[in-house]
Amino acid sequence: MDVVGSVGKGLGARYGSTVRKKWSEVVKSARSSYVCEKCGAKKVRRVSVGVWMCRGCGFKFAGQAYEPRVEK
Ligand SMILES: [Zn+2]
Repeated sequence: MDVVGSVGKGLGARYGSTVRKKWSEVVKSARSSYVCEKCGAKKVRRVSVGVWMCRGCGFKFAGQAYEPRVEK
């Protein structure tokens, strides 16, 4: 959070609240469960940054830092 704090200093309080909102969304998605591509169970959890594992079948894979994949 030190990086975000130093960046927000020169941009004012209005921008700071935007950063906080974005951060809470990131944390929320990082703590969510995702559907496993192998077994279809919604048991995929982040085990570390960029590493995800399904607790249903044990499938472990590399993904995004805060989400298993980017859906666009
Ligand atoms: Zn699975």
